[in-house]
Amino acid sequence: MKFAVSIGLEIHVQLRTRTKIFCGCPTTFGAPPNTQVCPVCLGLPGALPVLNREAVRLTVMAGLALGCRINLRSKFDRKNYFYPDMPKNYQISQYDLPLCVGGGLEIETPAGRRFIRLRRIHLEEDVGKNLHFAQSSGVDFNRAGVPLMEIVTEPDLTSADEAHTFLLALKEVLLHGGISDCNLEEGNLRCDVNISVRPEGADELGVKTELKNLNSFRAVHRALDYEIRRQIDLLSCGRTVVQETRRWNDELGITESMRTKEEAHDYRYFPEPDLVPVELTEEQLTEWRAQLPELPAARRARLVREYGLPEYDAKVLTADPDVADFFEAAARRSQQPKIVSNWIMTEVLRVLGERGSSIRDLPLTPDALAELIEMVQRGVINMPAAKSVLAELMEHGGRPAEIIERRGLVQISDRGALEPVVEEVLRDHPGPAADYRNGKAAALQFLIGQVMKRTRGKANPKLVAEVLRARLESQSPSS
Ligand code: ADP
Ligand code: MG
Ligand code: ZN
Repeated sequence: MKFAVSIGLEIHVQLRTRTKIFCGCPTTFGAPPNTQVCPVCLGLPGALPVLNREAVRLTVMAGLALGCRINLRSKFDRKNYFYPDMPKNYQISQYDLPLCVGGGLEIETPAGRRFIRLRRIHLEEDVGKNLHFAQSSGVDFNRAGVPLMEIVTEPDLTSADEAHTFLLALKEVLLHGGISDCNLEEGNLRCDVNISVRPEGADELGVKTELKNLNSFRAVHRALDYEIRRQIDLLSCGRTVVQETRRWNDELGITESMRTKEEAHDYRYFPEPDLVPVELTEEQLTEWRAQLPELPAARRARLVREYGLPEYDAKVLTADPDVADFFEAAARRSQQPKIVSNWIMTEVLRVLGERGSSIRDLPLTPDALAELIEMVQRGVINMPAAKSVLAELMEHGGRPAEIIERRGLVQISDRGALEPVVEEVLRDHPGPAADYRNGKAAALQFLIGQVMKRTRGKANPKLVAEVLRARLESQSPSS
C-alpha cells in the first residue's frame, strides 16, 4: 500500500525588538541568568503589562510579507497552565482573534512550485528557561516576556524535504523583512511539527502526532523521516497511530512518547483583562506595507535581470540579505557581477560557513573585494596570489593594493623576465621537455609548475605556458 504524508508546522519566531513585549527589559541574548527581569516579566502580582507596539508592527509586517489578511481588531488571551518556567501560571497569547489570518508561501520542490497555506500568525510572550545542575535546578527568566510570533501552517507539506525547504524559504522572508534575526543557536526560531499519514486516496487526514524538541532544521528533517517511517510501519501491519505529543531524541535518532491526548492540557483560554484589544487602521497598514523591504523572490528576479546572474547564483546570494547587499555593493563597484558572485559563493561563503559568522562581521569590505577582482582582471596578480590576499582580507581587512605591495605579489607579466627562468627549467628538466616534443602534452603542466615555483608563484601562468610552448616548438633541444 502507498501512503500520503501530511505535515503542518507551528513555528515560534523571536521578533527583532530591543525590549520585551510587555515591559522595558532588554531582549539581548547571553546575559547572566535573571539580570534582564522586572516585576512584569517575572509575573509578580499587581504588575501590569504594557504592549510593545514594535512587536505588533513586526508581526503585521510578517503577515503582509506572507500575504495574510490582517485583523484590524485583535486581542490577547490568557493560556492557563502550570509550569515552573512561567510564574504567572498563564501565558499571554492570542486565541480567537490573532493578528494575521491565512496567507502562505510558495516553495520550489523537485515536482515544481507548491503553495503552502498558512492558517494564522499570532503574537505571544516567551517563557523562562529551566536549567538543570548536578544537585539542583533553576529558572532563568531573561527570556520570559520576549516577543514571539507563532506561525501556523495548514497541513500542506508532504515530505521531510518539503518541510525543510519551507523552513529555509520562511527564514529568508523573515530575514529580508527585518522581522527576526532567525538565529537558530540563540533559539530565535523554534519549530514543532505535526504529522500524519494515510492510505493514498483516503479523503480524511490520518491521526497526527506532534513532535517537540527540534533544535535545528536538520533535526526537523531527521525527526520527520523517522516519524513518517514509524507511522507507515504501524499502519502497514494493521495497527493504529495514537494521537500524542512525542519528543525527538537527537542522540538516539528516534521519537518518544511524551503525553497522549488524555493528558493534553485544557488551557481554559479567556481574554486578557489587563490589555486593551489591538486596534489598527487601514492607513496604518498602508504605511507599513510601504515600509516592507524587497522580499527574496523579487530580489532574486532583480539580481538576474540587473546583473545578468544565473538563477542559481541569485538563489545562493539571497539566502542571506546581508550577503546579497554585500554582493550588490561589490558588483556596482567592479562592473564584473558574475565574477564577484563566483568569489562570494566560493571563497567568502566557505569562510563564513567555517566560522559560523555573518558577512557583517567580516573585515572584508565590498570595495576591497571589487578592487582585488579588478587587479586579477588587469593581470596585476594571478589567481593563487589573489586567493591568499582574499584570505588576509577576510582575516584582517585592509586594502588589496597595499597587501600585494607589502607581500611582493605583483605578477611577473614581462616576457623578458620570464624567458631566462624558462631556459633554466628546460635545462634542468630535459626529460619532460623531450616528452612534450614527443607529443606528451601533459608534460607542459610539469614545466609550468617548475617556472611558477622558481618565481615563487608570481609568474603569470598564461604567459609562462605561452613562452614555454613557443620555446619548445620552435627550437631543437640542443640549441
Ligand atoms: P491541535 O488542536 O492538536 O493543536 P491544530 O488543528 O491546532 O491541532 O493544528 C496544529 C497544527 O497541526 C497545524 O499546523 C495543522 O496544520 C497541523 N495538523 C492538523 N491536523 C493535522 C493532521 N491530521 N496531519 C498533519 N498535520 C495536521
Ligand atoms: Mg495547536
Ligand atoms: Zn521585564
